[in-house]
Amino acid sequence: MQLSSQKALSLTRRFLSPATPLHAQWFLTPRCNYRCRSCGVWREKTKTSEVSAEEVKAGLAALKKVGVAEVVLSGGNPLLREDIDEIIAYSSRHFITTVYDNGSMAVKKIDALRNADFVAISLDTLDEKKNDYMRGVKGAWKNAMNAIETLHREGINVGVAPTISQLNLYGMKDFTRYFTNRGVPVWYAVYSHDDTDDSLFGIGKKNDELEIVDKKAMAKLCDTLLSMKNERKGIFITDKTLEALKQLFLTGKRTWKCRALQNFLMVNHLGQVSGCHLYEPVAKVTELPKVWNSQRFDALRAKYSACQRCTYVCYLFYSIHKGVYGNLEILKDQFKNAGSIIARTYETRHAFAENSMSGRDREKTLLIGGSNAGGSMSSSPIMPCHLSLKYTAKKTL
Ligand code: SF4
Ligand code: SF4
Repeated sequence: MQLSSQKALSLTRRFLSPATPLHAQWFLTPRCNYRCRSCGVWREKTKTSEVSAEEVKAGLAALKKVGVAEVVLSGGNPLLREDIDEIIAYSSRHFITTVYDNGSMAVKKIDALRNADFVAISLDTLDEKKNDYMRGVKGAWKNAMNAIETLHREGINVGVAPTISQLNLYGMKDFTRYFTNRGVPVWYAVYSHDDTDDSLFGIGKKNDELEIVDKKAMAKLCDTLLSMKNERKGIFITDKTLEALKQLFLTGKRTWKCRALQNFLMVNHLGQVSGCHLYEPVAKVTELPKVWNSQRFDALRAKYSACQRCTYVCYLFYSIHKGVYGNLEILKDQFKNAGSIIARTYETRHAFAENSMSGRDREKTLLIGGSNAGGSMSSSPIMPCHLSLKYTAKKTL
């Protein structure tokens, strides 16, 4: 995690600016080594080219100019890009940067990921066989568990990112308990699919097996997560989002208006922008500072605002929490979790400091740290986490 005072100041300014797009997701590549049943990306054989790292950096600079504060690097699997280290390092200097991985690459790319603010590892269920079926690859579950454990042990802010669908809905409470008990936060998505071929980036593949048909159980899960949030840290979804999802599943009614191209925007592997991935590109990312306040963009905003085509949770989240007030709402809702993140950042910094110690000093610290090491994966903020977890390294999650 890179949190220089310059970055913190610049981010505060952007978070407090009205009428800026807070959030951007960049689908860096269509390449993926998995075959998830919910996903359309790997099925798309024709999309192979990608803009270069230099072009990505120029695009990120344009995003900063229009006020974006938070960037999610995804794909495909962004860690398959040969130049991903450079992209993560640059992005993390200017934005709160989250990187997605399906669990297959994070350990290999761990040094690059130390620069990211958050790493999200996709995993859908505690049931190994079912997870591998959903992900379409044998070994996906083991890869994800290993990645989560390794990154967590190394002090990286790693979270587990399940997509809730009919196939894992009933196990989601235990899943949440399992990871939050071990100090690993959970960031939820809900299965949704695209209804168009004319999109910026094809993601959600229609699959009847995954479609949530037990809507009452989904609404009940929202209630369960709401009450679990009162008793534990690490549930990364706001009360307002859960309430909106509950209403949606109980009544079919939307309690929000979409804020695509207002509060959030998407960029594809060719550096093209749209309000969300379901609509066609509307500009090159580098053109954004010029067109952001144009009448053409205002017309697009009006069109997106009236749209009700999807229920992707990240779009819902950034539509519900809008503007400066929305950012304060998120902060208030996630206050408990913010403390843990800062503590882990502090630990990580210490870990790096320890790594640069002389051999003798390090030996001394190991003895002190070792004698206090607990048996769980959660690390203490007063001890470098790579030391506090030394004796649990062999344990699985
Ligand atoms: S959901 Fe992610 S990991 Fe799975 S195939 Fe699609 S891009 Fe790859
Ligand atoms: S509701 Fe918003 S995010 Fe969803 S398809 Fe419409 S414009 Fe895109």
